[in-house]
Amino acid sequence: MNYRHAYHAGNFADVFKHIVLTRVLLYMQRKEAALRVIDTHAGIGRYDLSGVEAGKTLEWRSGIEQVFDAKAAGSIPAAMLELIAPYLDVIEQENSAVKDNSLRYYPGSPLLTRHLMREQDRLSALELHPQDYKTLAALFEGDYQTRVTELNGWLALGAHLPPKEKRGLVLVDPPFEIAGEFDRLVEGLVKAHRRFATGTYALWYPVKDRREVNRFIANLKESGLPKILRLELSVRAPSQEPRFDGTGMIVVNPPYLLQEEMTKISPWLASLFGENNQGSYKIEWITGEERAEK
Ligand code: SAM
Repeated sequence: MNYRHAYHAGNFADVFKHIVLTRVLLYMQRKEAALRVIDTHAGIGRYDLSGVEAGKTLEWRSGIEQVFDAKAAGSIPAAMLELIAPYLDVIEQENSAVKDNSLRYYPGSPLLTRHLMREQDRLSALELHPQDYKTLAALFEGDYQTRVTELNGWLALGAHLPPKEKRGLVLVDPPFEIAGEFDRLVEGLVKAHRRFATGTYALWYPVKDRREVNRFIANLKESGLPKILRLELSVRAPSQEPRFDGTGMIVVNPPYLLQEEMTKISPWLASLFGENNQGSYKIEWITGEERAEK
């Protein structure tokens, strides 16, 4: 386990993923009933963008910093700003004590989720890296709404489902540092769906090797699971050699409004993050309401 998210926190993929996460959560909270969020690959929760790791790659500069600069310049269209404001508010809260109002801390998925949770909601966060687990556990120490566990996140797709709340969002955000992660995503989803078919699932994947992505999408279709929405954002045209050209989220049982919201948000993000006007996005149903024929 070499992957450390601190090198990548706040990059364009994080921004995209966390905006999707925010929109899904907020929609699910329209119902009063308690909600459980299960974050299978949680990371450390709070990232210091002035730290050594973030400083080595500076990926956040072409990610969250672009969004903050656009906000400061007043160039975010109002309809867009309304949709991403809850996400930006969390980041502003995280940075409220930073001198000069500058951007120093970036909240990862468990911390973002925790900010958005209501009193009745619960978070289960899993992290396998011993050091990252300790950091995350310390962040939520004494928080009775959050349970941090040092566990293989893939196991949560079996044992932890269905949650006792019966309403849940499962975020699966593996590091893709070892081969076979796309297959594990499909297998994990099928297993989880068998136990908890009404849950909402958000799976992250990199758009790097397009053949792998196409195979992944074909396998999802083949899985027979209904209601799978594909959301993608690319910052450049497909590279010749595999390169991190874009980012994707698969949302199973997405909230009713997600497609419409992402249709507003994605073009703006594609123009903001796109290199040489080459940003693009994709929003499509892999399977619709009906269970696909196998
Ligand atoms: N979800 C986080 C966010 O959005 O802020 C980022 C997570 S990062 C992409 C992936 C994390 O998964 C890393 O912190 C890594 O240590 C952890 N990890 C790797 N393999 C794991 C496994 N089998 N189970 C749980 N966590 C794992």
